[in-house]
Amino acid sequence: MAPALEALASTFQEETVRVPGAVVDRVSTPKSVEALGELVRAASEDRTGLLLMGGRTRLDLANPASPLGLGVSLTGLSGIDEFDPDEGVLHAAAGTPIQAIRETVAAEGWELPLDSPGRASTVGGSLATAVMGPRAHAFGPVKDAILGLDVVGGDGVATKCGGRVVKNVTGYDLAKLYCGSFGTLAILTGAWLRLRPAPAVRRTFEAPMPAAGAAFEAVRKLGERPSVRAAIWQESAMRPGEARMLLELGGSLAGVEADLAAFREVGRFEEADASSVDHARDAGVTSAQDVARDAGVTSARDVAVRARVLGTNVAEWKDAALAAGLEVSVETGLGVVRASGRLPSAEVLLGLRERAVRHGGFATFERMPEAWRAEVDVFGDVGAGAGIVTALAARFDPNGILNPGRFVAHGAPGGGS
Ligand SMILES: Cc1cc2nc3c(=O)[nH]c(=O)nc-3n(C[C@H](O)[C@H](O)[C@H](O)COP(=O)(O)OP(=O)(O)OC[C@H]3O[C@@H](n4cnc5c(N)ncnc54)[C@H](O)[C@@H]3O)c2cc1C
Repeated sequence: MAPALEALASTFQEETVRVPGAVVDRVSTPKSVEALGELVRAASEDRTGLLLMGGRTRLDLANPASPLGLGVSLTGLSGIDEFDPDEGVLHAAAGTPIQAIRETVAAEGWELPLDSPGRASTVGGSLATAVMGPRAHAFGPVKDAILGLDVVGGDGVATKCGGRVVKNVTGYDLAKLYCGSFGTLAILTGAWLRLRPAPAVRRTFEAPMPAAGAAFEAVRKLGERPSVRAAIWQESAMRPGEARMLLELGGSLAGVEADLAAFREVGRFEEADASSVDHARDAGVTSAQDVARDAGVTSARDVAVRARVLGTNVAEWKDAALAAGLEVSVETGLGVVRASGRLPSAEVLLGLRERAVRHGGFATFERMPEAWRAEVDVFGDVGAGAGIVTALAARFDPNGILNPGRFVAHGAPGGGS
């Protein structure tokens, strides 16, 4: 290990963490923003790549990392340090589990508009990845939940943007830039989050659906009704002819009843367990063990694809994924299709992406065999956006030490590309 970091080595724990493309065997868990800043300054001086980690539920989702020297766990920065139940705002450290926040605010009649899966997902990881869950239908995009962010940049300097009141924002709204940058522009250390009043009524329903015919289009259109919080269509190539629909409605009793009546004209919707949408959302979460296993596997054909296409093209993309032998879960109102299963070759996977792009959308490969990673980019061609991402990364992280290699067109430590 290089000299500046070596001076801090007594605080590192021995632990092996594998991610696509790299492995680290030491992890630091700073307990304060100051300690994190010192660590990042040393890594920057040594040009040592850092693997940033929250709850480690999604470490496998990213391009193969460039050489990494150290894992940095943000779980040492954890806890809700302010919660104003009158205003519906909250400040939490980046390593705070989302689930802990949900439980705290629910007791005061609020809900956190972040739908991250699993019990371990943290504030930092959820904002860094910015992937929406099925309730984004009601919640809106992840960036809308953020009022302000505290970050440590690639130079180790701590800064803040935005704050408790969104009107405080002057100049560029950097929080929106950090959100979804996969930890390549800065390390998130804390966030001011905007809460939503919990709905008066929240009910969950499910119905068997005919896989063929007009039913899919009918429920997709009904997804625009005001009380719909999540609408998920599940279908598998293994069970031809059958599909299942999960629905979460929320709002006033009259609104929920009216929307339910409309859905019941299309399918036999029955009351379901209140956690059904959570289970569907959490189904694809990988554990740290899965990541370690997959990093060493080259022969598996398991894939997980998340595609987003225009609403009117969702049915076509869904059917193509089914024809390729996959299982699909469609968030109908959002135009998001999650497809998973086994594919014979990387060409078939790339064909699905090509179809999504043709339909005005994109496809992110959340999981794929290790052997395919050399030729297949996780995020796809982002066109002119790649140049912007590279230029921003060069500004915010000049020595290329934050999650190097993992995001769109992101270079190796030392500023290479
Ligand atoms: C239904 C659903 C499916 C989803 N699918 C995916 C998916 O496939 N892939 C995905 O990435 N997300 C996905 N998400 C988003 C998911 O919520 C987040 O990835 C998850 O919350 C990560 O939390 P974590 O603490 O486990 O982060 P980790 O798994 O530890 O890290 C995730 C990423 O964030 C970076 N990171 C973690 N903490 C910080 C920090 N404090 N500052 C800067 N960067 C940091 C890591 O380097 C890594 O790139 C999904 C969300 C939903 C609702």
